[in-house]
Amino acid sequence: MTIYKNKYGQINLFDDCKYFNKTNDINVSVSGGADSALMLWMIFKEFSEKNIQKNLLVSTMWASKSIRDGMPSNLQAANDVVKYVSSCFPDVKYKRFIYHSDINFIPYQTQEKKTEYKKIKLKEDKKFHNEMQKQFDTLPLHIWGETSNPEKGDRVAFKMDNSREYRRDPGNPFLEQKFMNNRSRWAPFIKFTKRFLSEIYKEYHLMDLFALTESCVGLNTKGLPCKQCWWCNEKYWAFGYYDHLKKPLAICTVLTGEKYSVNTVNKLYENLYNNTSQLFDFYCYTDHVGLNDRIQVIPITNKNKKLQWYKLDFFKNNFIENEDIIIMDIDVDIIGNQDWLFKDYGYDFTGSHRWWWRWREDNEDDKFALSGTIYKFKNGEHQYIVDTFENNIEYWEEYFIKNGTTVGPVNGEQHFVQKMLIDNNTNKGYFPEKMIVKWHNDFSIQLKLERDYYKWSGNDYIENDGWNPDIRMVHYAGG
Ligand SMILES: [Zn+2]
Repeated sequence: MTIYKNKYGQINLFDDCKYFNKTNDINVSVSGGADSALMLWMIFKEFSEKNIQKNLLVSTMWASKSIRDGMPSNLQAANDVVKYVSSCFPDVKYKRFIYHSDINFIPYQTQEKKTEYKKIKLKEDKKFHNEMQKQFDTLPLHIWGETSNPEKGDRVAFKMDNSREYRRDPGNPFLEQKFMNNRSRWAPFIKFTKRFLSEIYKEYHLMDLFALTESCVGLNTKGLPCKQCWWCNEKYWAFGYYDHLKKPLAICTVLTGEKYSVNTVNKLYENLYNNTSQLFDFYCYTDHVGLNDRIQVIPITNKNKKLQWYKLDFFKNNFIENEDIIIMDIDVDIIGNQDWLFKDYGYDFTGSHRWWWRWREDNEDDKFALSGTIYKFKNGEHQYIVDTFENNIEYWEEYFIKNGTTVGPVNGEQHFVQKMLIDNNTNKGYFPEKMIVKWHNDFSIQLKLERDYYKWSGNDYIENDGWNPDIRMVHYAGG
């Protein structure tokens, strides 16, 4: 039994459902909304962890947008949700059942249309169930993710109109009767509002799943939520977000050449994902295959650059959609919580500091020494960097090797970014030095790193029977 409990409620999966152990056939309805998405995730989690072997059907009833007025169901969102949940628990086997309804759903928002709507909806539900029943040999357990409406006080306070489904009003005795005691129907959320779900989404780190859900019944012509319908309001009331939650930050990586494999990138993504409560998109610009499904892959098609120089493409305006961009090397280890990456440090460009090279910085009287580990900036704000580079790729790829700043065969990309930032008087700065360290297996080199770390971070040590608790990222070099 798994218990989900927070200040808004508690459910015991599947102890609250008497029929679960008596049947081998389970149907769970997924609409594309946030309630059924969480229900699906819970069921897959339970099936995976308890190795439950039952026939699992994931069904969606939907209508094309032109006729689905009032019906909160979206096939694209439902499919995205199913794909996401399945990728979390790939061992769980399921069948998909999609029913396309082609009747006109009359908006039930007005009282006079209510009876007419009910009649049509009942008839259509029956058809849907008859079709679905054909997928099973016995009477299945139908699981819904429906929640109850907010209390009247909140409906008034949040200016929600009266277009709600009245039957979902809290305290309606019909609900429990219908969903909790009937042997073939179970809606464990029906006693609780979406705020109960919102807490679970956060606790179990599922905002990525939430971002895929769609609830609005009145999407405007751009496909954006109307922010007026009941479903928009209810979602906002509970979660603080409407549909199409945009993830502001993207973490961008490059994988090309033979030195690293997709495993390096998959591991980096997993470690970042598991160590932050913040939402982010993760991109890999690559010519390799086999990346985690949740990594957004951008294929390298124009092979005009060498290895890490491909990182510069992320400086192009709208190369990706997100507003905040972090370019990150893939050969780093993630240590502890990563929320520091999401903070605003107040610069137009924030980078990792090559503090272990400060002697050179001092020698050259150049107060900026950028390492290539992390760059953070706003989408498109530094396009001059990649433009300058692409004006003469061969020249810049060799420039810092030829002038002795670094050694080949492929090198100098961080020096180039640094030069461009300085040449353009960019307001640039560093992430805290104490957070990003370099590690070398050669003892004498590492000793020097320890000494420099002490000098620049103010901390006593990098490693002493474990990492210094301030360290968030380790960049391995040599050895
Ligand atoms: Zn809406």
